[in-house]
Amino acid sequence: MSDTEKMELGTYEATVERSRKLEEDLSVHPEKYRVLTGDRPTGRLHIGHLFGSLQNRVRLHNLGVETFIVIADYQVLTDRDSFDKISENVRQLTLDYLAAGIDPTDGKTFIFPHSYVPELNQLLLPFLTLVSNAELNRNPTVKEEIQASGLKSINAGMYTYPVHQAADILFCKGNVVPVGKDQLPHLELTRVIARRFNDKFAPNNPVFPEPQPLLSKSPMILGLDGGQKMSKSRNNAIMLSATEDETAALIKKAKTDAERFITYEPERRPEIANLLSLISMCTGETPEAIAAKIGNGGGGQLKKMLTESINEYLRPFRQKRIELESNMDYVRQVILNGAQKAREVGTATLEEVRAAMNMKI
Ligand code: ATP
Ligand code: MG
Repeated sequence: MSDTEKMELGTYEATVERSRKLEEDLSVHPEKYRVLTGDRPTGRLHIGHLFGSLQNRVRLHNLGVETFIVIADYQVLTDRDSFDKISENVRQLTLDYLAAGIDPTDGKTFIFPHSYVPELNQLLLPFLTLVSNAELNRNPTVKEEIQASGLKSINAGMYTYPVHQAADILFCKGNVVPVGKDQLPHLELTRVIARRFNDKFAPNNPVFPEPQPLLSKSPMILGLDGGQKMSKSRNNAIMLSATEDETAALIKKAKTDAERFITYEPERRPEIANLLSLISMCTGETPEAIAAKIGNGGGGQLKKMLTESINEYLRPFRQKRIELESNMDYVRQVILNGAQKAREVGTATLEEVRAAMNMKI
């Protein structure tokens, strides 16, 4: 392991530890926190979202923590040419949230696309002046996404979307952000921006909190192709709303390896370990115990068990989603209500920001 890798691992371990402490405090003092979290409307949610982030959101929601869920529609334009499905995807994501147990009727949960909140987007301008080009170029997640997208020409939105994300989080002064591991560099940038803004414009009366990441127990679910993050864009995901037959067909094609006997060895056999972990997330049994049960049953048995576990685990979610789908007017109203609240909150923050920057007439 190189020195840089050791340092990165050390930082990651410290983040995991902080996330654990935050977790403890959240259940004691839910009123101290405001959660900001979100997704890009590039498709429906997959099981990586469910285990990596969505379940955490539902849990916090159930603790009574105020939750803002941003649907980052502008961010779709960073690496996609097509925009014809954006609004449909916004509605489909909202269905996924509602089916997973997010319930906006509690008056503490708001779902909105960021394009509907001009006050939020306006924060991008001062924030862009607080970071350097070099910092934006170094972001490892952006680098990885550029590589995965296969794009030849990269637009400036791709390099600056982490700053936009800082606006998503800070416009409502979110102080807890449940995320997967890929988002940690972005969140660090948000913390830097909050700190620099406060230091420069409001040293005596800080405007922004430094938000903390909340990692789930499984901060990085790999795709069915084994080697990389499960992602909407990489054709390697099981969508939550897939039918049971679609789920079976996807899993049939999942990558395994040449050894028949099933063991749980994440380093040596990452593809097998990933499939075992997915079963474990559904059933609560340890991956080791599941591997021992399958043993000589090989990849075929492993895939069969995974298909059954996921289909069973998702059955209530899928049922509820189908029911909700018949009431799209309600879904639309949820989004418009969320946007209205986000604008109220954003207006108040922008007033403070304007005053701090000495731009108030
Ligand atoms: P896209 O491919 O369009 O970027 P995505 O699948 O990466 O889509 P995002 O909308 O970018 O999904 O991510 C939303 C949230 O879900 C983030 O907090 C991210 O960390 C989390 N997340 C996404 N994929 C995974 C995964 N495979 N494992 C754990 N968390 C994930
Ligand atoms: Mg992504």
